Amino acid sequence: MITESYDVALRELRAGGIVALPTETVYGLAADIRNPQAIIKIFETKMRPEFDPLIVHVGDIADVIRVVDDWPPLAQKLAETFWPGPLTMVLRRQSNINPMITSGLETVAVRLPANPKTRTLIRDLGAPVAAPSANRFGHTSPTTAAHVDAEFSGEILVLDDGPCQVGIESTVIRINADKIQVLRPGAVTAEDLARFAIVETVKGSVETPGHLRHHYMPAIPLVILPNVRALTQPVYDGIRLRLQKTILHPAWMELPDDPVLAARLLYANMRAAAAASDVNCLLLAYPFHKRRANLWAGISDRLEKASTIIV
Ligand code: AMP
Ligand code: MG
Repeated sequence: MITESYDVALRELRAGGIVALPTETVYGLAADIRNPQAIIKIFETKMRPEFDPLIVHVGDIADVIRVVDDWPPLAQKLAETFWPGPLTMVLRRQSNINPMITSGLETVAVRLPANPKTRTLIRDLGAPVAAPSANRFGHTSPTTAAHVDAEFSGEILVLDDGPCQVGIESTVIRINADKIQVLRPGAVTAEDLARFAIVETVKGSVETPGHLRHHYMPAIPLVILPNVRALTQPVYDGIRLRLQKTILHPAWMELPDDPVLAARLLYANMRAAAAASDVNCLLLAYPFHKRRANLWAGISDRLEKASTIIV
C-alpha cells in the first residue's frame, strides 16, 4: 500500500512493522534495528537467505557510534565527504547489534542516506533502521513506490517520495589498514575514493554483495549484446537455443548514453520492457568494454548479474 504520509510510516515502524522507505539509491525495506521480530519480517518478506546481511541506515553521522565499534579517521573523512549519500562502510560491529542483521559477521554495514524524509524518519524513530532493497531476493531493485507495490502485491506499506535519483544500490566498501576495498561499485566511484586512499576492487568474495552469479534479475531473461545492435538470424538462433525457447518474442531495453541517467533509469526501464505483453526475453545493446570506469562500473556490475546470457 502506498502512502505519502510521513506519520503513517513512522507509526508503522514504531509498532514493529516494516516499511519501504525512499532513499536516493533504491527503495529500502526498513525495520527498527532494536526489534528482532521486525528484522525477521524483512528476511521473510524478501525471502532473503539468512547469510545475506542488511545495511544499517543511520539518521546522523554521530549515530554510527551506536552501531560500530571502531571508527577509523579514514571512515570519518569519507563520511564527511560522501554522507549523506550512496556510500556504505563495512566496519567492526558493536556487540549489542542483532546478529540477524549482520548474518553473524563481526562487521556491520552502515550508511547515512540522503533522502531528507527518510533521514528525519530515522531520527524521529530514535534508532537506526536496517534496510535492504525492497524487492524479493535476487530480483531487480525498486526505484519507485509503484515498483515496491507491484513486487509485494500491495502488502507492504511504502512511503512514496518519487523516483530515486541515483537508481542503483550504494557503493559498499571495507577499510583494510589504509586501503579501501570496494565490495560493490556504485555512485561513489573508485575514482572518487582514490582521492583518499589506495583503492582495490574485490570480486566474488563471500562478503561481496550480489556475489551469487545471478542477482538484480528482471522477470524474464535479459540477453546482453556487447557488440551487436541488430538481431541477425544467427544471433537470434544462438539466443533461442541457449534460452531453450522454440520462439523468441524479444523486446529491446533502452539505456541512455549519459551514465547518471543510465543508472537512474536502469531498473525502471528493465521492469517496463519486461512488463510488455507477449515478451519472453529482453535484449540490450551494451558495450561492456567501453564501460568500466566511474559510474559505468556500477551499472556494468548490475547488468552482468542481471543478465542470463551475454552474447
Ligand atoms: P542491499 O541488497 O542493497 O540491501 O545490500 C545489502 C548488501 O550489503 C548485502 O548483500 C551485503 O553483501 C552487503 N553487506 C551488508 N553487511 C555487510 C557486511 N557486514 N560485510 C560485507 N557486506 C555487507
Ligand atoms: Mg538487494
